[in-house]
Amino acid sequence: MNKVQTPKKPLIFYYLMVLLILTVFNFIVTPQLGRPKVQEVDYGVFLDMAEKKELNQVQVTSGEIVFSDNSTPENYYKTGRMDDIFLVDRLYDAGIKDFGTPIIKQMSPIVSLLLSWVVPIFIFVILGQLLSRYMMKKMGPGGMGNAMSFGKSNAKIYVQSTDGIRFSDVAGEDEAKELLTEIVDYLHNPEKYAQIGASIPKGALLVGPPGTGKTLLAKAVAGEAHVPFFSISGSEFVEMFVGMGAAKVRDLFKQANEKAPCIVFIDEIDTIGKKRDSGPISGGNDEREQTLNQLLTEMDGFDAKKGVIILAATNRPESLDPALLRPGRFDRRIPVELPDLKGREEILKVHAKKVKIGDNVDFSAIAKAAAGASGAELANMINEAALRAVRVGRQYVTQADLEESVEVVIAGYQKKNKILSDKEKMIVAYHEIGHALVAALQNHSAPVTKITIIPRTSGALGYTMQVEQDEHNLMSKAEIENKIATYTGGRVAEQLIFDSITTGASNDIEQATKLARAMITRFGMSDEFGMVALETVGNQYLGGDASLACSPEISAEIDRKVIDVVKAQYNKAEGLLKAHMKELNSLAQYLYYHETITGEEFMDILNESKNSESEGQEQGESLN
Ligand code: ADP
Repeated sequence: MNKVQTPKKPLIFYYLMVLLILTVFNFIVTPQLGRPKVQEVDYGVFLDMAEKKELNQVQVTSGEIVFSDNSTPENYYKTGRMDDIFLVDRLYDAGIKDFGTPIIKQMSPIVSLLLSWVVPIFIFVILGQLLSRYMMKKMGPGGMGNAMSFGKSNAKIYVQSTDGIRFSDVAGEDEAKELLTEIVDYLHNPEKYAQIGASIPKGALLVGPPGTGKTLLAKAVAGEAHVPFFSISGSEFVEMFVGMGAAKVRDLFKQANEKAPCIVFIDEIDTIGKKRDSGPISGGNDEREQTLNQLLTEMDGFDAKKGVIILAATNRPESLDPALLRPGRFDRRIPVELPDLKGREEILKVHAKKVKIGDNVDFSAIAKAAAGASGAELANMINEAALRAVRVGRQYVTQADLEESVEVVIAGYQKKNKILSDKEKMIVAYHEIGHALVAALQNHSAPVTKITIIPRTSGALGYTMQVEQDEHNLMSKAEIENKIATYTGGRVAEQLIFDSITTGASNDIEQATKLARAMITRFGMSDEFGMVALETVGNQYLGGDASLACSPEISAEIDRKVIDVVKAQYNKAEGLLKAHMKELNSLAQYLYYHETITGEEFMDILNESKNSESEGQEQGESLN
């Protein structure tokens, strides 16, 4: 935990303070030093002393008379010079012949120079050094760095202790671990590689979506190899002044060389490693380019045989400068993907070791429900579950805690104080059952596991949770169409029952449109366009925003086709629900009263009303 620190005053504040003290010293204190006290007196006092012949020394200048008396010659007096024509006579009478030489001794010019300039500057520098050292200590390794060393980097480069982090702490990600094992082995036995003349890659690039354990893997490599772990984020190289980033890179490599063998981990390398502009108007991001150039130079320059291995992580591999990826630099690319079902279960189990878990927790069920979650999200789910257990005053985590935490991560916390009116609650119940029923009535759709109309902090007034029984990597055209139909199911139910539509379907509309568009532009699932890529996907890991890659005419046609696809699925859902109005009604009523129903309850009620319907039909047939 970070210590709470009182807000720090800027360094300039301390410098100003020192400057002020020195000014006072120079202009007020120093002039006083070594100068005898001079008392101002009346001209009468001077006349009196002259008459009584008590004067010791006298100095007459154009404006004043300075003098001392016999009894206390170290005391000086001064008085204004009157228009006194007998002054010289008086002085002669008093026995004073020399009244032109200065009587107050001036400081020697060397001492004066020393006192007023050399000593203050010396104190100033010493104090400055002491202050900046004190500040650095207070700010810790992440502080401002040495303020006096402008132009030198003030990189906050930590050597982290990775002791205790092993590959076993990283669940799943077997391929990545396998690729990294070689590096660990090299750090253990460099001779083995040297003998045969093999050189280990200088750098490896960990590529994957956020939260998949890239940092954890890099730490595990250092932990397995028992070597120091330097960690710095790409954004820390980005500095306000041109050249500072490059200086940081130099510093990093210097430190790493001193500590070799070691692992240097650069997170978010895309911040400095972005493709450099090639166009004629490469409006300058000089700082970033210089930093990148310095990184490239350092990577070429250092001797991999010393055992400095650079691991970098990014979730935008497509934006990296090709120069970074060429052999001899980050030539190894290690994919760190989102975990599959088995991976998710393993990650849950690894993190579950850190909390007290009840006996009959079924991790595979949780892993199934958390489809698409990253390692970081799964770790968060375990923690959420533990927090929930504490909230209800239990000593251990149960299956229900974990189930709730999956929902928290997917849909946010339950919003206890959100009051829905009865009418709204009924609409939401029909809307959710509309989705679930359309999903269940289509063979290809996954069965629902849970439906709830308890509002969540994410803004959802209710939701239907579908869990795929098996891991799905491919989706058929029919499955995508069914999914779109399921998305439209909520709105269809509202329309059928209340004959009015609400804003509740906005997210469904967005999802359905996205899927329909992707079918046409990316998956080649339309007769009109066939297998032609009409969109390019920007980043495979970060949401996959697509940009059109076709003429405006085709784009208009795509829009029309998307509308057709969604409309067709809407009609299909409408047909299904119209044919099952009884089930729709009984399920929605049940949900309205119970607020949450499980997949089993849903299927029971569905089958029950289906059976009673078919019984009724049979009776009707026999009566005819
Ligand atoms: P990234 O660097 O890919 O964004 P991190 O390595 O920082 O992700 O992961 C964040 C946290 O998520 C880790 O500290 C760890 O607790 C958890 N985590 C992620 N992936 C895994 C995994 N494969 N096994 C165990 N824990 C994981």
